[in-house]
Amino acid sequence: MDPNMALRVAEGVVLRGDLPLLGQDPSVTYRMGIMGGTFDPIHNGHLVAAEQAFDDLQLDVVVFMPAGRPAFKQGKKVTAGEDRYAMTLLATSDNPHFLASRFEVDREGITYTAETLEFLQGIYPSNVEFYFITGADAIAEIVTWRDAHKIARIAHVVGATRPGYDLAHARQAIAESSLPFDVTYLEVPALAISSSYLRERVEAGQSLRYLTPDQVTGYIHKHHLYGVQPSRYGSTDVRIQ
Ligand code: ATP
Ligand code: MG
Repeated sequence: MDPNMALRVAEGVVLRGDLPLLGQDPSVTYRMGIMGGTFDPIHNGHLVAAEQAFDDLQLDVVVFMPAGRPAFKQGKKVTAGEDRYAMTLLATSDNPHFLASRFEVDREGITYTAETLEFLQGIYPSNVEFYFITGADAIAEIVTWRDAHKIARIAHVVGATRPGYDLAHARQAIAESSLPFDVTYLEVPALAISSSYLRERVEAGQSLRYLTPDQVTGYIHKHHLYGVQPSRYGSTDVRIQ
């Protein structure tokens, strides 16, 4: 989607490609979750965290936004945005309150969260609140992200944390930044799963079953991502009896 195509077409009504319509009733506060990430590939950790944020914070929708060129992965090999978006779309397609957006993959240049949030704030009416969902490890760093003050001003932050994870570092970084961050921490048992772990497993010829939706595994095989070895698993080499 061309971001310039986004239009406020009437008070409270926004028309913008694959982004949700929210804010129609001015007497209601709407809550939009934004799950940003590289999603290389998306996995059940992301999905569980988003679902839990949806429940605990009474969100109306969670938009998964694969980053175009992630600011932190410069110089690292990142799978094409089109593939990461396709896997994100597949993984979210059966959940009525999850959406996948092309917004960042279609943007030129490096992806900065502050810019994305600023854009969203500009097109949605003021009765839409933004909840930026991220891993708790990233919370300590968020204060160093470009235009962190804008992120703090525009969005609530939801930090997904592993049970037993020590939040002292994250809390201290937020407190020392003196930026007005509003952070809610959520315990997500599946936090140990990461995209790097999935990529390693694929390369080693190991199964991804129960770590990511089967449609994502199918896509990885079909498009030969992550050095996949098609003969190791999948349907062709399994015989019953
Ligand atoms: P990589 O291993 O390549 O760094 P990743 O699994 O961390 O990948 P990203 O796309 O970098 O995935 O992460 C997107 C967002 O999801 C980040 O905010 C990250 O902190 C968060 N996240 C990653 N894994 C989990 C998980 N298992 N549970 C909850 N949140 C997660
Ligand atoms: Mg990561």
